[in-house]
Amino acid sequence: MADAGAEDTRRAVDAAHRAFPAWSQKVAGERAAILERVYDGMMEQKEEMARLMTMEQGKPLAEARGEVQYAADFFKWYAEEAKRIYGDTIPASSPDKRIWVLRQPVGVTAAITPWNFPAAMITRKVAPALAAGCTMVIKPAEQTPLTAALLMEIMDQAGVPAGVVNLVTGTRAADIGDALLEDRRVRKITFTGSTEVGKLLMRKAADTVKRVSLELGGHAPFLVFEDADLVKAAKEVLASKFRNAGQTCVCTNRVYVHNSVKGEFAAILAREAEKLQVGEGLKEDVQIGPLIEPEALAKVERHVADAKEKGAKVLTGGRRVTEGGLDQGCFYAPTVLLDTTSDMLVEREETFGPVLPLHGFEEEAEAVALANDTPYGLAAYLYTRDLSRAIRVSEALEYGIVGVNDGMPSTAQAPFGGVKESGLGREGGKYGIEEFLETKYVSVGLK
Ligand code: ADP
Repeated sequence: MADAGAEDTRRAVDAAHRAFPAWSQKVAGERAAILERVYDGMMEQKEEMARLMTMEQGKPLAEARGEVQYAADFFKWYAEEAKRIYGDTIPASSPDKRIWVLRQPVGVTAAITPWNFPAAMITRKVAPALAAGCTMVIKPAEQTPLTAALLMEIMDQAGVPAGVVNLVTGTRAADIGDALLEDRRVRKITFTGSTEVGKLLMRKAADTVKRVSLELGGHAPFLVFEDADLVKAAKEVLASKFRNAGQTCVCTNRVYVHNSVKGEFAAILAREAEKLQVGEGLKEDVQIGPLIEPEALAKVERHVADAKEKGAKVLTGGRRVTEGGLDQGCFYAPTVLLDTTSDMLVEREETFGPVLPLHGFEEEAEAVALANDTPYGLAAYLYTRDLSRAIRVSEALEYGIVGVNDGMPSTAQAPFGGVKESGLGREGGKYGIEEFLETKYVSVGLK
């Protein structure tokens, strides 16, 4: 892959700037037809992209296939949504005036994306941007440029005109980022990644007052109440915790379980977690692939060691997996920790690995307070059969996404995003396209 720097980035912005007038002036139906063709192209190359993603990023093939479908769904959704960008007319205060409100594309936009969803984190941004009539420069994570490149090829084949989307790959993230942020022509930055980098980008965006969308870290709590169907709840917890080996920003980070069912629930989770197959993602039966890089493995080991030292019990896992030829990789066994406490790293920082901490509680209000005691506010989950409690608790959780009896809420038509230090703005659904539209007020005198 090319290792681009600031100059290449400026050239990409030049191209996006040149392409903007023609792209934004196309009728919506024409842009929609191109986005539909991108969807079709992704479906045709689904297997190829999934295999490439697994080889590049490590997630099991079944999950990679799932991601390609999820990623493509954004093109389908926004192809349809492109045709529904409505303005307003407002009754004026004088008979010889008219008030029109237009929705127009913000202009040239930039996207900086992470490695954990190498396709979907791009499509969730580029599909609404193109639907709105914006052009875009994309900087994918340095760990996963190949999936991004294949996506670009598919967009090219589908008829997205030259310059409308531009890929800048490279290891000098700050140089590329700075070139995008300093450029006045870039009117919006949309980012998914760490809270730390998100804050930096937001600060830098201030100099040219760019619009900013941020999808940052999370620390998802999962509340399991005493009336929950424990087998079903465990299934959702496992799905939410262990997909992508725990490397998603909406993965469960902390389970709060009522003390009366804690022992039974812990036993189910430990038994099921132990059954998960760890290994190379291309093998069909594998459910947990490697972590992305050695630093990620070191962080998981640090979190588990800290929890053990402070008194948590390891019910299963708690170690690297090296047997069966896996000694060269960053494989970590699915781990369940019992009786974790608020002072442990696993309950404070995003572990981003296959580690499930269980923390008992007595009262609903206590569980909600524990869940909200974090600077993050992306996703939270709860499991209960009590409808009033489900409503009460989902309203009290300070999170952008709440899964009630559902550990996998992400889908193209719903608004995804966080509150507090988990981010700004929403991606997906009718909300996602708003991020790429400006509101223009046209006051017309009939004199
Ligand atoms: P993660 O911890 O998930 O790797 P990062 O926030 O470090 O999250 O990375 C997300 C994206 O942000 C990647 O594309 C990365 O290259 C990019 N990035 C990292 N540092 C900077 C920076 N200083 N300026 C712009 N982009 C950056």
